[in-house]
Amino acid sequence: MIQEYQLRVLPEVAANEQRLKDYLVHEKGLDARDITATRILKRSIDARQRTVFVNLNVRAYLNEMPREDEFEKTIYRSVDGKPQVVVVGAGPAGLFAALRLIELGLRPIVVERGKDVRERKKDLAAIGREQSVNPESNYSFGEGGAGAYSDGKLYTRSKKRGNTDKILNVFCRHGASTSILIDAHPHIGTDKLPRVIENMRNTILACGGEVHFETRMDALIIEKNEVKGIETNTGKTFLGPVILATGHSGRDVYRWLAANRIEIECKRIAVGVRLEHPAALIDRIQYHSREGRGKYLPAAEYSFVSQVDGRGVYSFCMCPGGFIVPAASGPQQIVVNGMSPSNRGSRWSNSGMVVELRPEDLDDKSLSVHSGGMAHGQLPSLAPQLGMMYFQENLERLCWQQGNMQQTAPAQRMEDFTKKKLSYDLPATSYAPGLVSS
Ligand SMILES: Cc1cc2nc3c(=O)[nH]c(=O)nc-3n(C[C@H](O)[C@H](O)[C@H](O)COP(=O)(O)OP(=O)(O)OC[C@H]3O[C@@H](n4cnc5c(N)ncnc54)[C@H](O)[C@@H]3O)c2cc1C
Repeated sequence: MIQEYQLRVLPEVAANEQRLKDYLVHEKGLDARDITATRILKRSIDARQRTVFVNLNVRAYLNEMPREDEFEKTIYRSVDGKPQVVVVGAGPAGLFAALRLIELGLRPIVVERGKDVRERKKDLAAIGREQSVNPESNYSFGEGGAGAYSDGKLYTRSKKRGNTDKILNVFCRHGASTSILIDAHPHIGTDKLPRVIENMRNTILACGGEVHFETRMDALIIEKNEVKGIETNTGKTFLGPVILATGHSGRDVYRWLAANRIEIECKRIAVGVRLEHPAALIDRIQYHSREGRGKYLPAAEYSFVSQVDGRGVYSFCMCPGGFIVPAASGPQQIVVNGMSPSNRGSRWSNSGMVVELRPEDLDDKSLSVHSGGMAHGQLPSLAPQLGMMYFQENLERLCWQQGNMQQTAPAQRMEDFTKKKLSYDLPATSYAPGLVSS
């Protein structure tokens, strides 16, 4: 027999199967001899009160063993000889598009400008060491895209979610921990993602798809107003319908689309800074305890949302127990982002704090102000639909200039930032290239 329970237990009970069984015996009247196994179906932390509880949805198996798999296994069949579809970009969008094409009986040909996920790592290490960014292999470009060395948080505030359970199951099928199916805020961790991405590539190859690294799409082949394939920097062309999964950093792709009069739209973005704090401080605040998180709770998260003059200001991509990393996709630019390993064990926590920016906020002046020293007349001719992209690029160049023309990031103490004051000194940071008071 199977019985399900909604429980509210202390963290030490939630963390230990035997303690959980004891709890079911004492609180729910089960006979210990009948409980053959327990399985946690959902888990979330409730830290609103002084005592922190863990809410669990638990399935107890009584006199029988679990028979169902821990996750749903999507079946990928051979697509050898099937019609091919070109997928440009091997980031999360490209990889999931390729896997979905296989499910639909189509053969994906994945074309990726960067290197495979392991080779890429050397170029990431060089960013901190040599202060230089390889424009084809960095935190955004290469197998796994910006997702490969990301935090791997798998939740969203977006209402337009689609079938997220399916996505989580595909991750598990490729080696992610099944805890992502349970946790209210699932997280894979940057140390685990490369293996998952390699496994996805192996599924694509095993089914008869192709993956081409260090191959950049330079143009679409268009005949009679119809996309027929792509041209690449290696001289090779690939024919078939095309899925562009080139992400937010493929600026050359957007320039090419605008120059070739392909219809694209300007969308809103969010712009801001990254805040970094000692993880222990956030633990103490969120868990209301001077001892911090203790043995059984994870590094604490937070989320902040506000409206200022009708505009959203909010925390974004909170990384408890993580690091700030240099995530620019080209030279002479600074972008910072956050990630954390699966154990969230670093002594730092960080989050983005951003404000919405709308296309109508931009005018020629705001673009030239942020043009990184270029006089307005020297700016490349502006395509209006690329306005946000120019703004973003200019801001990244300005940060690079303020960061001593290296990957050292311009920074302030938060208190000084709110007082619009230059910081006299800066605290220690997880950001490897270092900070400069700005
Ligand atoms: C450090 C960091 C932490 C993050 N943490 C999280 C997180 O915890 N949770 C979350 O949801 N999101 C996170 N993100 C954001 C997330 O990684 C991106 O939203 C996501 O990767 C976007 O997926 P994508 O496939 O659309 O684009 P991308 O990941 O940008 O992938 C695009 C791919 O296309 C390739 N490409 C571009 N142009 C061409 C071309 N011309 N020819 C061939 N290939 C090309 C690129 O090399 C790249 O591999 C993080 C990002 C970073 C950098």
